[in-house]
Amino acid sequence: TDMELSFVDMDEIMEINEGLFKRLFKEVLGKELVTPFEKMTYNDAMENYGSDKPDIRFDMKIQNISDLVKDCGFSVFTSAVENGGSVRAIVAKNAASVYTRKEIDKLTEYVKGIGAKGLAYVRWVDEPNASFKKFMTEEELSAIYERLGAEKGDVIFIVADKNSTVLTTLGALRLKVAKVLDIIPDEFKFLWIVDFPFFEYDEESGEWLAMHHPFTMPKEECLQYLDTDPSKVIAKAYDLTLNGTELSSGSMRITDYELQQRMFKALKLTDEEIEAKFGFLVDAYRYGAPPHGGAALGLDRLAMIMCGADSLRDVVA
Ligand code: AMP
Repeated sequence: TDMELSFVDMDEIMEINEGLFKRLFKEVLGKELVTPFEKMTYNDAMENYGSDKPDIRFDMKIQNISDLVKDCGFSVFTSAVENGGSVRAIVAKNAASVYTRKEIDKLTEYVKGIGAKGLAYVRWVDEPNASFKKFMTEEELSAIYERLGAEKGDVIFIVADKNSTVLTTLGALRLKVAKVLDIIPDEFKFLWIVDFPFFEYDEESGEWLAMHHPFTMPKEECLQYLDTDPSKVIAKAYDLTLNGTELSSGSMRITDYELQQRMFKALKLTDEEIEAKFGFLVDAYRYGAPPHGGAALGLDRLAMIMCGADSLRDVVA
């Protein structure tokens, strides 16, 4: 399903969607949803949950300990920080009896399978037992436990690497551990993700690509960075997530001829490419178009969650 609306702003589109979900959940499941839904910036979602569709039904946030370990004796940690990456951790509360050495070895294999080089950990049974304790002083170790709020009974998992790897692997580990510990409450937690970066740096080509699509409206206040620092340009795009699943994704569209040209140029499209691929569209904007935006909804995913099904295949038909 898709919705396209003219003469709206972002807040109105969000409000209309909230109304739709409120009504759906009330009529289909008899559940009363509280609106407006929570909002979180893309940056906060990535930093705290390692995901652009965080499951916020449980805490276990990712915490940065780079500053505490940057001068320690463990080269895995120090070199990650020196190379511009980071060292971050999650704390699994009361998990020491579940996560024995053997189980942690399995998790280590798991994170290696999704891109990490290893998994450092602290298993706190009677005393905190860090896998890297021989490289650190007691003071350095205590500072980590204190920062993380770790206590007896907890297990700390730590990954050191470039930021994207650290965040995505800890984000995935967080979900996996929460399922095993069975700490995810059975409830519906809607969450808007907003303030997406407009551009995404593609390491392979060395170019900035549009994260959503090139017709997305950038926020006015960051247009000044278009030519100087594309990483600072924020898109008027929004995703609606539910329990760690993306339900709906949308954006405000550019409707201004000049601005659309600037965005294409920032994406390094030549005049010929713009004309060939999008000529009809940009020409149409010359006649004047109303402000417009929209959202597309993953109906099958929504049905899956509302039915409590584990697979899309259970609901597609
Ligand atoms: P190694 O030097 O490979 O024997 O690793 C020593 C310890 O550090 C082991 O517990 C590894 O799992 C862990 N480790 C290795 N690489 C990383 C990394 N990038 N992040 C976190 N822990 C790591």
